[in-house]
Amino acid sequence: MPKLSDVLAELEALWPPARAEQWDAVGLVCGDPDAAASRVLFAVDPVLPVALEAVEAGADLLVTHHPLYLRGTTTVAADTFKGRVVHTLIRNGVALYVAHTNADTADPGVSDALASVLGLRVLGPLVPDPTDPAGRRGLGRICEPREPMTLSGFAELAARSLPGTAAGIRVAGDPDAPLRTVAVSGGSGDSLFDQVRAAGVDAFLTADLRHHPASEAQQASPLGLLDAAHWATEWPWCVQAAAQLDEISDRHGWALRTDVSTRVTDPWTAHEPARPADIHPPVPTSSPGAPR
Ligand SMILES: [Zn+2]
Repeated sequence: MPKLSDVLAELEALWPPARAEQWDAVGLVCGDPDAAASRVLFAVDPVLPVALEAVEAGADLLVTHHPLYLRGTTTVAADTFKGRVVHTLIRNGVALYVAHTNADTADPGVSDALASVLGLRVLGPLVPDPTDPAGRRGLGRICEPREPMTLSGFAELAARSLPGTAAGIRVAGDPDAPLRTVAVSGGSGDSLFDQVRAAGVDAFLTADLRHHPASEAQQASPLGLLDAAHWATEWPWCVQAAAQLDEISDRHGWALRTDVSTRVTDPWTAHEPARPADIHPPVPTSSPGAPR
């Protein structure tokens, strides 16, 4: 049975911490590198239900995409919600390891996993990492559909292929527009509009799109937008990462057991679609504050 430090060395080769953004907080959050490792759970968010799932599964390592502490802290007291996670993990001998922006830009990375579940052919990174001579690492991916597709067809494909969430998929643009190339970026992608426009793609699938960047991108050029749940765009990475660790385990004869949490940890838990009658509400006959 490998030591945790043996497993972590392999994870750091997949996602070198030095390639994380400077503001990021990746690597080992808690856990003893000298402890034995036999079972690993992958998840997007290090929230308490996921920590409890790791304990329940008998995992000794929980690997998450999102950091538990992105900024420094002065307490891990169990009466704070993050401290409760730390206590739950340590008390039950579960280590927590984070691969965040270093997994985003890896080859394969978060957006490769996203493109893969959507059945898209990856052409290259949307924002290439200049330090990669092969030109495969970087943020987001430019892709082409394997068969002719419209924006509404892409939205249906995303709704069908991504894990289900209450948020579903929001769409902006002409539903009948044909898509020759698309960009995808797991997680919050609205800082990438300049690169999306420069890439000349017909549509962009990401998460957390805000009003102004989305509106301005639409005004600038006929770009189709698909806004999916943040969790749903990053969850496919967990499956990809677990498969990568399985392959490493086989190579070393470690017999590690890997699992992927299917718990939906997207914070949005319900979505009330507008009814047709609500889209054009009746104009009030007398406006408040009008002179009587
Ligand atoms: Zn994310």
